[in-house]
Amino acid sequence: MISVEEARELILDSKFNYKIEKVPILDSPGKVLAEDISASDDIPIYDNSAMDGYAVIANDVKGADESYPVRLVLAAGSIPAGKVSGKKVDPGFCIPIMTGAAIPRGADSVVMKEDVQRDGNSILVFREVKQGENVRYRSEDIKKGDVVLKKFDKIGSASIGVLASLGKSNIKVFQPPYIGVIATGDELISIDEKLRTGVVRDSNSYSLSVQVREAGAEYNRYGIVPDDEEVLKKSIEKALKENDILLLSGGVSVGDYDLVKDTLEDMGADLIFWRVNQKPGKPMAFFKYNNKFVFGLPGNPVSVMVCFEMYVRPLIRKMMGFKELFRPVVVAEALHDFRNKKGRTNFARVVLENKEGKYFFSSTGMQGSGILTSMVKANGLACFPSDMGDVKKGSRVEVHKFEVIYLK
Ligand code: AMP
Ligand code: MG
Repeated sequence: MISVEEARELILDSKFNYKIEKVPILDSPGKVLAEDISASDDIPIYDNSAMDGYAVIANDVKGADESYPVRLVLAAGSIPAGKVSGKKVDPGFCIPIMTGAAIPRGADSVVMKEDVQRDGNSILVFREVKQGENVRYRSEDIKKGDVVLKKFDKIGSASIGVLASLGKSNIKVFQPPYIGVIATGDELISIDEKLRTGVVRDSNSYSLSVQVREAGAEYNRYGIVPDDEEVLKKSIEKALKENDILLLSGGVSVGDYDLVKDTLEDMGADLIFWRVNQKPGKPMAFFKYNNKFVFGLPGNPVSVMVCFEMYVRPLIRKMMGFKELFRPVVVAEALHDFRNKKGRTNFARVVLENKEGKYFFSSTGMQGSGILTSMVKANGLACFPSDMGDVKKGSRVEVHKFEVIYLK
């Protein structure tokens, strides 16, 4: 049996080839850039006005104030955004200019409309401006040739805006992996069958599929497979053809009908590890099969979700090119005692609260690995290290913070 840390390392050290695809920029938020983006233009490409006002020569309005306004003569009609004036601003003259319009020749600054009074064919300026005031200079945002976004940068609304301003409508991103999801177990029935003694509705293939989506990847849900080596083998073969990672739930423990591990080994899969010194999720197994990965996840509904969080999600994020693989981890203080067995890592479903800048956590209630509702209430997973023993009120431990993610 290996430790949580060893299991993590073995999974995240796995070699894989990134998959890269070209997508329209509007399909790229939440993904990661797979290329450097260098600017093909200066942004902005011309000196322009940051204000609605008058293009002037700063020297002309030096010393202007409320009691000593400076008079300037209009040299031309106003320049709207998007237009370039052919007229020049000579000393003693000015040209009305709108935000975004090109600064006319001769002028070096813009006085705000609010600081000016129109007087027939001239204006009175009540405030001086520094040279360059209210001018947005060519390339002040982006210089042509600069690398503005880097490979492995996360893409969000601001970077998409930058890409659009540079005329980039399609970009290379790391393609999220496809994840196959299979629920194994003779006792499982499907969602629309009636419950009776001895059977359990398959919930794992649903919770796992959504965890996959929340991690940013795509899932293929294959439903329920019985504890039958031949059927299992066929299902695994099919799912491995169609996915980069395969998640199996159930059948990975030491029971008479736990066939996942033997079946995969018979098929030639490489068992990287089996069993992790943790609760929940001890029976977990991890395999490599050609260039694909297979997780044998425990059947219990909480265990399966916790193992996904701790092991599958970081691998998916890595394959998607993310630098941050883990949930944000905060150090939080226990609001009450927790009974906790020494000698293994325990993950507790907790309610995490922030009071005046400090984090505190309390249990979501019964912590059995079949109590799926304990997961519903949780907004964090507290990690009790294997050398900890009972957790006293006030103890400080690391808590993985779940984020609320809205899927489209
Ligand atoms: P196993 O690891 O196959 O022994 O499964 C352990 C327990 O997890 C079973 O007794 C079931 O109660 C539960 N279980 C297994 N698979 C599922 C599933 N797909 N959905 C909900 N519960 C499951
Ligand atoms: Mg089973």
